[in-house]
Amino acid sequence: MANERILVADDEPQIVKVCVQMLSDFGYRVRGVTSGQEAVECLEAESYDLLVIDIRMPEVDGLTVLRWGMSLDPNLTCVVITGYATMGRVIEAMNSGARGFLLKPFGMEEFQGTIEAALAQRRKEQEWQRLRAQLPILIISQTLMAEGDVEDLSRRLLEVVARQMGANRAVLMLLDSRAQELRVAASMGLRGLDVAIEARVVPVQGIVLQTLQAREVKVWEGRDWAGQQELLHAVVSGPAEGPLVLVPLRTGKKDVGVLGLGHLSDKGRPVALTPSDLNLLAIMSRQVAIALENARMYAVEQRRTAELGRALDQQRELDRLKNQFIQNVSHELRTPLAMVLGYAELLASGDLGDLRPEQKGPVEIMVQRSYVLRDLIENITAILENEIRQPSKEPVSVPGMIRDAIKDFRVLADQAGLILESDLSSQVPTVLGDAEHLRRVVDNLIGNAIKFTPEGGAIHIRLYSVDGGVMLQVSDTGIGIAQDDQERIFERFYQVDGSTRRVHGGCGLGLALVKEIVERHGGSVAVDSTLGQGSTFTVTLPAGDEAEQPELKRRQMSPR
Ligand code: ADP
Repeated sequence: MANERILVADDEPQIVKVCVQMLSDFGYRVRGVTSGQEAVECLEAESYDLLVIDIRMPEVDGLTVLRWGMSLDPNLTCVVITGYATMGRVIEAMNSGARGFLLKPFGMEEFQGTIEAALAQRRKEQEWQRLRAQLPILIISQTLMAEGDVEDLSRRLLEVVARQMGANRAVLMLLDSRAQELRVAASMGLRGLDVAIEARVVPVQGIVLQTLQAREVKVWEGRDWAGQQELLHAVVSGPAEGPLVLVPLRTGKKDVGVLGLGHLSDKGRPVALTPSDLNLLAIMSRQVAIALENARMYAVEQRRTAELGRALDQQRELDRLKNQFIQNVSHELRTPLAMVLGYAELLASGDLGDLRPEQKGPVEIMVQRSYVLRDLIENITAILENEIRQPSKEPVSVPGMIRDAIKDFRVLADQAGLILESDLSSQVPTVLGDAEHLRRVVDNLIGNAIKFTPEGGAIHIRLYSVDGGVMLQVSDTGIGIAQDDQERIFERFYQVDGSTRRVHGGCGLGLALVKEIVERHGGSVAVDSTLGQGSTFTVTLPAGDEAEQPELKRRQMSPR
């Protein structure tokens, strides 16, 4: 460790020369001067590890230099050189902090031994200081491992810091989210003191603000500020008043709070903070700030998670109620309607006896209106179901499904005087999805085409294979849809002519359902229409996942 810096000061140039030469030979970085004044200037300009100084020098003597040097740097190590005449002053020098002395004349070995002993002691002290700095950090890390909320952690951290610094009263204040005021998170030694509850909120002003702005530990003597900061006054007031130490708590860029310490003492005796104490406080304050900020963020996260959990529970409950509602609706509406429709169809077919000509019209209306009602119920049920139920992923053969739908709509199209033709490629990939829901897509598109195409028109259904999926097109030569309406027809309950006098039935749910189901299957729907000429609705659905296809095919082929 011969890299240490040494300043040698003696008014005898010969002694300085020999000492400098010798210490340089040992590998130290040495500077030699021949007056007290020069020594003071060197100490002010640079930092030294060791000062070797003659006690007796004209003008500025060695003791004065020593005291000055130690006030600049309390860690400065000093060895004094003395003759018999100044022996009495050695004690004074040792009391002022000197670590050794050399009596003139001294030999080389004695010189070397004294210098090395002083430097060795200095290294030990530095090591001790380093350990002293590490100890609280170790304790702080241990504190962090114990579970607890921000308040709990604040109290434990405050105790660690206060104990390390010998503070009998202490307070830890955290900045609120808008950094406008500090709130007491923990205090120590203040119990029994008359601190009003409202004083536990400290505005960010005065010495608190100055400490935060300075971003370093501040030692406040005097009581000029006491009026504005009642709480902090309580930290220092009492029989043995001393300074108030304020420590800003700050993580990388963010102010977290301020820690206040008062009544600093060692075994009951008041003490002042040394530079190494301040350094230690600065190190601890960073650890404390990071720990508190982490705990605060963790608490926020925990609160958010709990809120999300509650929202999820509510959502689940809503889904459960909706599910129940759908089941009730399906059952309570579908069952009686099926009976009404069944009997109406029986009446209309003549199986229950011939109807009189004037009865045929009303019965036919009953059948048609029942169909409309059935469609409506199916749409409402499907739209609710689609919202909450994950679509099942069964392999669906789209050509087969469309052929079935065309068969079912054939009679209706004939009755309306419409041509219904199709062009279906059978070489289309299988779609993975919910067959029941996809069938509602097809039914709604064909149903609308029939509904909105006047007698004599044509409806054309096409099915192609496209890159990565299938494309279904339902075209008609009907009334068409104006450009402005084309964007809105996929909204729930939107109808181009929503008036009660409208000739076509329905309630504006069909296309919304088409869009929602198709999108849930990963597909899309679009319309292309010209008013008065007709419309084409195009649905694209992705093919089932290729990786899943063989598996599905195997399942299809295996006996159930
Ligand atoms: P609705 O039950 O009224 O048929 P939809 O959601 O199925 O409800 O359709 C919304 C509106 O879009 C219809 O009211 C109609 O005005 C218009 N529309 C849908 N399909 C066609 C079509 N093929 N031709 C002309 N207009 C259509």
